[in-house]
Amino acid sequence: MLRDRGKIDRLFYILYFCLHMKFSQYHISDKIKKNLTELGFLKPTDIQYKSIPSIMKGEDVLAIAQTGTGKTAAFAIPIVDRLFAKKRHRENKSIRCLVMVPTRELAVQINEVFSKIAANTPLKILTTFGGADQTTQIKALKTGIDILISTPGRMFDLRSQGYIDLSETEVLILDEADHMLALGFIKDIQDVIKHLPRRYQTLFFSATIDEKIKDLAYSIVRNPIRIQLSPKDPVSKNIDHQVAYIEMDDKRFFLERMIREKEESKMLVFVRTKVRAERLAKAMERVNIKTLTMHGDKHQEDRLEVMETFRKGDIRVLIATDISARGIDIPGIHYVINYDLPDVAENYVHRIGRTGRGTERGHALTFCAPEEKPILEIIQGFLGKEIRQMEIDKSDYRMTLALTEEVNTNWQKLLDEAATAKSSKRKKKKK
Ligand code: AMP
Repeated sequence: MLRDRGKIDRLFYILYFCLHMKFSQYHISDKIKKNLTELGFLKPTDIQYKSIPSIMKGEDVLAIAQTGTGKTAAFAIPIVDRLFAKKRHRENKSIRCLVMVPTRELAVQINEVFSKIAANTPLKILTTFGGADQTTQIKALKTGIDILISTPGRMFDLRSQGYIDLSETEVLILDEADHMLALGFIKDIQDVIKHLPRRYQTLFFSATIDEKIKDLAYSIVRNPIRIQLSPKDPVSKNIDHQVAYIEMDDKRFFLERMIREKEESKMLVFVRTKVRAERLAKAMERVNIKTLTMHGDKHQEDRLEVMETFRKGDIRVLIATDISARGIDIPGIHYVINYDLPDVAENYVHRIGRTGRGTERGHALTFCAPEEKPILEIIQGFLGKEIRQMEIDKSDYRMTLALTEEVNTNWQKLLDEAATAKSSKRKKKKK
């Protein structure tokens, strides 16, 4: 009995210690710890707590973690720490860590995390992706890069031209592997392995998992440590998400009202197509609300400018399509609005994962029109539970339509104006 008591006490102590373990207690270099403190990262998030020790040991990791969970730092912290501790040979120009990502936005975002964690260390980090000038990328590659973050196309291009050497790469990281599969990068992922040395560590990160991803993962990783966050609920615990039933043609009035009521909040609004994105932006413009748009038709420079304006908060509403928004990591997005339901159920998880990131709390609201209910049901099936419904009573619904500043649609305003005009006419007559 006493011995059991001792065991329980020890267990409690370990649990207490683990739950309260801060980065300052990790076996990582003081420089990296200082950088983490500057970033405001004091304690690891769930995924970091679960994966950092294995990555530090050099084990392969297969992690199912959504964006917003802190997954980037989960691999960046231990890798930066290791590469920093182990200096490279001067004559060795091989990339030491290769991070393969599906989109350039994600590449830029990951670069930012790596650069901040590796600040004030001699580690060289580079991002390469298509659509940008090769010359500067080649120049940088010639100096010897430690960590390369790249989309597959440009990486293979530069490798075949002899600018990227993977013969002594120590770590391969695949981020958003499910998205890579969806974009048809499966062969690229399998091909990259042919250029790597016999021994290297693989870190495989995916937001969702199904048979195809499992097959791909197991063709790449070796005896991996499997980490899955809240397997029953793919949505982060930090996100409060609800659905509101709204007629398709009324959605814009509800968005208008939300934007006005949440005047300090940053909002990311998802629509199905680029045409709808532009159309919605125009509708908001008519009621004097400034928004930004992000979709496949935007040029690289425009995209970066849009992201910067939104990041700074100069304009606080961004209307985006699914593809364009995959790589968005803007801290402090308070609301994600699903103005249209996503075509693919997984995208619901990706979309709302843009809010409630790291240790922040976030909110997501889905506007569901009657004709979209079948898609909602598929999404709920994917989530394994119903999305909480936001009740809107009839008078509140009517009031939302009446509150719009859209001149031709604001029937309430028109009626009021007509009534005032009538009564002033009457008054004049009396006089
Ligand atoms: P990710 O899932 O990698 O896209 O990260 C989502 C957000 O979480 C980013 O904005 C990070 O800055 C933030 N984050 C990551 N790790 C931590 C941490 N340990 N503490 C607080 N915030 C974090």
